[in-house]
Amino acid sequence: MKPVINKRRCSAEKDVCTAIKVCSEGAIQYVEDEDEPLGGRIVIDYASCDECGLCATECCGQAIDMKSLEQHQCFHLAMLGLHGATTQFHSR
Ligand code: SF4
Ligand code: SF4
Repeated sequence: MKPVINKRRCSAEKDVCTAIKVCSEGAIQYVEDEDEPLGGRIVIDYASCDECGLCATECCGQAIDMKSLEQHQCFHLAMLGLHGATTQFHSR
């Protein structure tokens, strides 16, 4: 199970993001993006994620769901994240 961000619920606030703070693997980061309405977005690095689920439990906006993803989906999400387009794959 991998954490997937529901962008509609995420406030994308770097300094208050509880998910970033609780991730012991450092797998969650804030990325500035001027194309985003809020000026940035939260990105999850699945290569570092150990699937503990803590970010989903502690997310301040209940914006993270743990979902089963096929390996190729994880790969695409990771690659798109590196290229700044992860948001289009966030759940609706
Ligand atoms: S805690 Fe959740 S809703 Fe809040 S900024 Fe982080 S990912 Fe978004
Ligand atoms: S599931 Fe655990 S390791 Fe993965 S991003 Fe969330 S808090 Fe970090």
